[in-house]
Amino acid sequence: MFRPKCVKGGKSMYIVMLGAPGSGKGSAAKILAKETSLPHISTGDIFREQIKKETELGKLADSYISKGQLVPDEITINIVTDRLNCGDATNGVILDGFPRTLEQAKALDAILKEKGKEITLVPEIVISDQVIIERILNRATCSNKECGAIYNIKFKPPKVEGVCDICGSPLSIRADDNEETIKKRLDVYRQTSKMLIEYYKKNGVWTSIVPDDPTAGNASEQVVATILQLTK
Ligand code: ADP
Ligand code: ZN
Repeated sequence: MFRPKCVKGGKSMYIVMLGAPGSGKGSAAKILAKETSLPHISTGDIFREQIKKETELGKLADSYISKGQLVPDEITINIVTDRLNCGDATNGVILDGFPRTLEQAKALDAILKEKGKEITLVPEIVISDQVIIERILNRATCSNKECGAIYNIKFKPPKVEGVCDICGSPLSIRADDNEETIKKRLDVYRQTSKMLIEYYKKNGVWTSIVPDDPTAGNASEQVVATILQLTK
């Protein structure tokens, strides 16, 4: 009987986006996912959805997130493991907000290894604290989960106040985007990212991306263009 030969899909690409809260890694990850047709996996988005649905996981995650603390590794790793086992992740994914600790990074490598895959690139978006804080305090996100477009009231405002340009849904402000929590989140990022960056440097996959003008409306598009160039 005739058996068609299996043709391997395009090259697989497992990207880990690094960057402080407000660095624009979420916006860049969303655009990159669209450009590559790979799934965008954001642990922050997963937790926020669970919080909104008031599930047990949501309640537990919220007790950490509202204080600017990290959700424990065990919970987070289990969620990502399940997500990576979905069929749509076989050719690659864009990870955003995971891993955040060395333990998570090692767990991710183990999961991928089991699948015969490995991390392709770990771009770290580097911008100043001043821009970060301005960004977070002016951030508004489309409330439609399918869309999730991110705006900046100052630098990249929607055409109509409070309304998403793309899908027309109302924009919302994240509960953890307040001055007190931001400072804590930045502290946590500084403490935990050092080891992550060292780890990925050692593995030869880390690269830093410094946007020319992080306040430009197309800053995220430029970051994505750089990443696509590097993964060619
Ligand atoms: P940001 O990068 O702006 O902090 P995220 O949406 O990535 O936003 O994360 C929001 C919050 O969710 C974090 O402050 C943290 O409490 C929790 N969180 C997200 N990803 C992880 C993770 N990989 N490990 C632990 N906690 C996480
Ligand atoms: Zn929208």
